[in-house]
Amino acid sequence: MKNIMDKLTSLCKRRGFIFPSSDIYGGINACWDYGPMGTLLKNNIKAQWLSTMTRLRADVVPLDAAILMSPKVWEASGHISEFTDPLVDCRECKTRFRADDLDFDPSDPKTPCPKCGKLGTFTEPRMFNLMFKTFMGPLEDATSVVYLRPETAQGIYVNFENVRISSRKKLPFGIAQIGKAFRNEITPGNFIFRTREFEQMEMQFFIRPEEDQKWFDFWKQDRMNWYLSLGIDPKRLRFHEHGPNELAHYAKAAFDIEYEFGFGSDPWHELEGIHNRTDFDLKRHQECSGKKQEYFDEETRERYLPYIIETSAGCDRTLLTTLINGYREEEIKGSLRVFLGFHPKLAPIKAAIFPLVKKDGMPEIAEKIEANLRPHFDILYDAGGSIGRRYARQDEIGTPFCITVDGQTIEDQTVTIRHRDTLEQERCGIDFLRQRLAELIEGS
Ligand code: ATP
Repeated sequence: MKNIMDKLTSLCKRRGFIFPSSDIYGGINACWDYGPMGTLLKNNIKAQWLSTMTRLRADVVPLDAAILMSPKVWEASGHISEFTDPLVDCRECKTRFRADDLDFDPSDPKTPCPKCGKLGTFTEPRMFNLMFKTFMGPLEDATSVVYLRPETAQGIYVNFENVRISSRKKLPFGIAQIGKAFRNEITPGNFIFRTREFEQMEMQFFIRPEEDQKWFDFWKQDRMNWYLSLGIDPKRLRFHEHGPNELAHYAKAAFDIEYEFGFGSDPWHELEGIHNRTDFDLKRHQECSGKKQEYFDEETRERYLPYIIETSAGCDRTLLTTLINGYREEEIKGSLRVFLGFHPKLAPIKAAIFPLVKKDGMPEIAEKIEANLRPHFDILYDAGGSIGRRYARQDEIGTPFCITVDGQTIEDQTVTIRHRDTLEQERCGIDFLRQRLAELIEGS
């Protein structure tokens, strides 16, 4: 029995969710391309996040900062000195491991290498900086070094004053941003779980220092609620509090939202981090840039550096979560039905439209329905193959509703809507289809 990750990797390629990057050249380690279905799914995840975090909240505004930033940002943030992982190499087979990720002691001479099995072959741990370096402009020397951002957060901190002044925001308020981040991970893998190029969805909430616990608790719960609102199984979600040894250099308190991804000796892994970053970042940027970052509170007449509560989610990890959470196998009349039970809000295609047969005027009616629905929903028209095969294709891409034009349609202008999860069928008048689909998507 293949494990779920292998099944998902192959389904994702077959159905156009995710392809190995540079596939025709044999791929490149741990880099992935999102295909048509994957792009739609990812866009839906990002749209849900943006809507929850900014459109529905008057106190959070969006931002889209550049990937390349002044190297001084990374000195100030501590990334140049602190953004490191310890790595050890096996002297025998040259495999590289993240020393803090191992469930054995690499300095023990009786420890076998998990790859080649030789005993006591590990090097001393070395600290390795995870930032990707490149050069800006034609000169490749120390003065032209720039970094690909390893997190989107710093683009928010350095714009705190720009955003506050231009949008006339008073504390508490937040800035939300979705964007690519890059980390030269020592051990990427597990499909899209850990990659070197990935997308983050981060929100930084600026507050009065005395209110840090209140807002930390608020965002912790709010973020957990978001995953629940996407239909993620509550039994496979939990909080993990960082102990003193785990806390990042900037954090006073941190909780991870973990999902039971299922791989590794401990199947639970981080999906999102919620951090109380105190005034660490604004203080450092104030010191290093010489530009005041203090906030003047007109009500209390106080001047202070705001604290920041950060919610930092991985877009690709959320997408992987929706795939694992949605993957179902069902035996029906001796044959296997595979489907992705996405929440309809996330499903790449909301409805597929089929003429039962390619005659008797059915394709013409189905095409008309397609034209009417297309401006409002992501839909797909399919007239190829048996109805069973067409359903199976939609099941594998997680389409929640399939609309079929059949003999009865010609008589009474109704169609069937087949529900992916229950396989129930209902009849609906063509004129009410748009309204009914909206109800079904919103109401689920
Ligand atoms: P990990 O412990 O898994 O390395 P982290 O604690 O370094 O993660 P953060 O710096 O808190 O992660 O980043 C916030 C979020 O960004 C993570 O919760 C995760 O969803 C996502 N993320 C971080 N690194 C990667 C990566 N290499 N590939 C994909 N997503 C990532």
